[in-house]
Amino acid sequence: MGFFSQRISKIQPSVTMSISAKAKSLKEEGKNIINFSAGEPDFDTPENIKNSGIQAIKDGQTKYTPVNGTKELRNAIINKFKKENNLHFSHDEITVGCGGKQVIYNALLASIDKEDEIIIPSPYWVSYPDIALIAEGEPKVLECSLENNFKINPQDLEKCITNKTKWLILNSPSNPTGAMYNDLELMNIAKILLKHPHVWILSDDLYEHIVFDDLKFKNILQIENSLKERTLIVNGVSKAYAMTGWRLGYAGGPKKLINQINKIQSQSTTHTSSISQAAAIEALNNSEEFINKNKKVYQERRDIVFSKLKNFDGFDVFLPQGSFYIYVCCNNLMNKKKEDGTLINNDIEFSDYLLDEAGVAVVPGEAFGCSNYFRTSFATSKSNLEKGCDKIIEASKKLK
Ligand code: PLP
Repeated sequence: MGFFSQRISKIQPSVTMSISAKAKSLKEEGKNIINFSAGEPDFDTPENIKNSGIQAIKDGQTKYTPVNGTKELRNAIINKFKKENNLHFSHDEITVGCGGKQVIYNALLASIDKEDEIIIPSPYWVSYPDIALIAEGEPKVLECSLENNFKINPQDLEKCITNKTKWLILNSPSNPTGAMYNDLELMNIAKILLKHPHVWILSDDLYEHIVFDDLKFKNILQIENSLKERTLIVNGVSKAYAMTGWRLGYAGGPKKLINQINKIQSQSTTHTSSISQAAAIEALNNSEEFINKNKKVYQERRDIVFSKLKNFDGFDVFLPQGSFYIYVCCNNLMNKKKEDGTLINNDIEFSDYLLDEAGVAVVPGEAFGCSNYFRTSFATSKSNLEKGCDKIIEASKKLK
């Protein structure tokens, strides 16, 4: 028996984090790299939010806070849910952690035993299956095809549910596809869930505020409130307010689950930084203008990438309704030859080829449980997007 646990041998480091790191280190070596792999806004955190963090330091808010976040922050979160989602939570139904990621981690660790199943629709955010595995659960991947706009087919969901199912994870708008559920689609999923009262729902709403074409975001509780006693709504400040490094996520859910989440957190990180908590209050209370301005910027960028890549007949491109990602099918380019005569066998090799030949970093679809695709992020400048897309197409055209 080796030193390391079986648990750790089952999981992978985050692929998106490692590609971003590779792109960064190639850049540092002086290579001309355009990074379309980043999972974070390129905007800076707004000044008013930064100033709230600075003021918190000056005011001596530098000590431990309650595990589940300061009362002031939980107030701001309760108001956010009320104002933006028409959802009503009390203080003991809210928790705050070091990013949405930690809140999801705590929730699964608090609820999963060996062999419990977690339904994860694919393509999925890279961390769900690995977090489920750390909790020693069984990720059950539910495939959502391009033909179904990367959304759950309710009949398929029903077939996937067993008596061991603990959770269904819903992520809308989605990372990596940008697919967003409408009211009717959520209602049809809710109808299935109402028939299976042992299944809990984890709604990951991290991209709630990055939505296009005047579409309105809603989560499943806004459609079917009777699911409230078994739904955890996860959100955070990373994507909406350009605060990835501040590490603050939060959730609203049933008190009995929130208590267990808090118990785990009290024995791990205790709480996220007191300074980030102060800054998050400002973010939640005073960011409407920032959000509305960025929505327009992201939509313009989405349109650039979509129309450029769509024009190349080697790709099938899905138009995202939200998030800052475009998911592109590169199946037509598989088994084609590079100039040196070697074959491109899969999307991992294609993504490597794009990095070497075009100097553009993208993430292979394999990382999201759905090949042969790649994910491009449009959280970068218009000129970078134009240059990068041209380079991707130029390199792809060289494949014979
Ligand atoms: N959920 C989704 C779908 C994400 O894409 C991410 C980050 O990339 C997260 C959750 C976690 O974000 P954070 O931990 O920064 O709040």
